[in-house]
Amino acid sequence: MFLREFSNEVRFLKGVGPRLSEVLGKLSISTISDLILHCPRDYVDRSRIDHLKDALKKEKVNCIVEVVAHDYIGKGYRKTLKIHIEDATGTAVLLCFGRAFLESVFVPGKRFLVSGTFKYRFGEVQSSNFEYEPYLPGNEDFKAIIPIYPLTAGITQGVLRRIMRGALDVIRDTIENELPERLITAYRFPHKSEALRTLHFPDSTASLLRARQSLVYEELFYLQLLIKRRAIKRRIQRKSRSPVPFALENRLLDRLPFSLTKDQRAVISEIKQDLFSPFAASRLLHGDVGCGKTLVAVILSLSVIESGEQVAFMAPTELLARQHADRIADLLQPIGIRIGFLSGSVRDEERKLLLDELQSGNIDLLVGTHALFSDDIAFRNLGFVIIDEQHRFGVLQRLSILKKGRNPDLLLMTATPIPRTLALTAFGDLEISTIRMQPEGRIPVITHLTREGNESRVYRRVREEISQGRQAYVVYPIIEESDSLALKDAETGFDRLSREIFPDFRCGLIHSRLQEDHKRKVMEDFSHHHLDILVATSVVEVGVDVPEATCMVIEHAERFGLSALHQLRGRVCRSVHQSYAFLIYGVNLTEDGIRRLKVMMETTDGFRIAEEDLAIRGPGELLGVKQSGFLRLTVSDLIRDKDILEAARKDAFSLLEDDPGFITPENMTIREVLNRAPPFSDEFLDGG
Ligand code: ADP
Ligand code: MG
Repeated sequence: MFLREFSNEVRFLKGVGPRLSEVLGKLSISTISDLILHCPRDYVDRSRIDHLKDALKKEKVNCIVEVVAHDYIGKGYRKTLKIHIEDATGTAVLLCFGRAFLESVFVPGKRFLVSGTFKYRFGEVQSSNFEYEPYLPGNEDFKAIIPIYPLTAGITQGVLRRIMRGALDVIRDTIENELPERLITAYRFPHKSEALRTLHFPDSTASLLRARQSLVYEELFYLQLLIKRRAIKRRIQRKSRSPVPFALENRLLDRLPFSLTKDQRAVISEIKQDLFSPFAASRLLHGDVGCGKTLVAVILSLSVIESGEQVAFMAPTELLARQHADRIADLLQPIGIRIGFLSGSVRDEERKLLLDELQSGNIDLLVGTHALFSDDIAFRNLGFVIIDEQHRFGVLQRLSILKKGRNPDLLLMTATPIPRTLALTAFGDLEISTIRMQPEGRIPVITHLTREGNESRVYRRVREEISQGRQAYVVYPIIEESDSLALKDAETGFDRLSREIFPDFRCGLIHSRLQEDHKRKVMEDFSHHHLDILVATSVVEVGVDVPEATCMVIEHAERFGLSALHQLRGRVCRSVHQSYAFLIYGVNLTEDGIRRLKVMMETTDGFRIAEEDLAIRGPGELLGVKQSGFLRLTVSDLIRDKDILEAARKDAFSLLEDDPGFITPENMTIREVLNRAPPFSDEFLDGG
């Protein structure tokens, strides 16, 4: 392929010197392939030039204008630059929020191409949402659909476009179709080389759409192939477990004061099939906070224990692991199950004793933290590994615990519901079980939105609740006062709340920088109701369960991500009482901040919230794996391209079912074809 035949480095492109290649480096572009895969973030249709007099008539106009003058609105660091522009037909104003540098760009008398959305405000035709570039007669980017790229300092749209054209010319004849011809014909996809050119320089909206679809399809098709092949590969890890009469499970179910939900019963029987199949299973169980996942995992453990094997149950924090251990002990000790607990704070003699018991098989179920991964931990017969809040564990950690048994089954759990598109990609090679419903009788939380400055109203409500014997959380975005962030912090908040606002109530403070012992003490005090108010950071986010806590106050709610807000709110619908969430927002709201708060007001459905979260943050952020480069989709967008994903998946799977040997690893992904790393880190999938 061309890329290996001659140098693929972008600095050898015509017109790209050392300076420019350094600038491109900042956009993570070092090869021609990187460059070609630097996709436009938007397009401007300049095939027609509009007149300023029509600026309000169309959603977006595209005008050639001359700069008349500048001035400012507001004062000090908050002042905003205003640029007055005109063409032969009218005048308008560009508002440059946070773009004061444009003063030196828009020099009066100069001409620019401006594309934007205009509104009529304060007696003027204004735009704060516009793209611009100097208008040079004879510019070839004129009268066409023009790509708008993500940029960095030191490079302009015009320059990037010129380089891009050059690169596309260089590679034009070397790009081959990768997809099977049959599919290309069936979908009537353009040739890949044409598709890439069209992606950057479309000659019509229709051809752009088709080009993009073909590239997205190709990317997702190879991703699904990869996923399916791994799933097939995993099917050969054998285990043996004899059927059991489920006596332990029945004993537990008899003792429960409630019956299982339909979803709980369904996933239990689904996962039991895994447990008694001849192959080691990897499954993800997801469902909203409080839907009863832990109970499901405990019930499943009983089958494994009954067949004479051991179970490991892991949680990401000491706090959570302890809480699980306590609850599991309450459930299982009465039916004779031997439970152990291990964390970093279990040391010396106690630890030694525990390890002995574990090795000799005197412990059936070991609950713990990362400590379970340690080298010196050995099980007699580990058959089932359960990992709660799986996203908080690394892949290698997961692998190391699996190695402690002979192909044990793996159950990953997460309280962040996973949108379907993510389930099919990020977790595509895992079996997935979903609990959608909540146990009956839960009273939905009531959510209030309050502007900063009106907290006293919230405090009054909290006071009423506490006076009736309830408890409250007050959560802050940061631990201590910070100069750089004008935010309220937990320590200052704690001082104020405990001294001025609620001097008559018992307040505690918890955050990640406290010692484990201290944290545990505070948490215990709160859950035993020796404290009325728990001031905290988002450490209380995961799984903590205190039934009398009915108020969740979140300061600077706009600073928290959707899933954190949802998890925090999930802390207070745990009992028979009505519960409340008070979201207090600060003055400087971003668009995303507003959107998040709106979603929180609209719904308590974790699945909906997760979809929104995916839309706002993208898959990398959502899974907390952006850094590792995992799920590095180049052209695809998991929200927009849902339907293509489904189609690509179906095609890829049926292809592999028919011909498991199809596709060699060399021609796997669009990115690899263009000489780069695969979109997935192998590690992740192997670990899952
Ligand atoms: P998750 O781990 O999904 O957040 P848990 O398993 O911790 O949920 O369950 C939350 C609470 O609901 C626990 O107190 C649990 O005993 C209770 N619970 C679980 N299943 C049911 C059910 N079917 N009916 C009533 N309560 C249930
Ligand atoms: Mg849980």
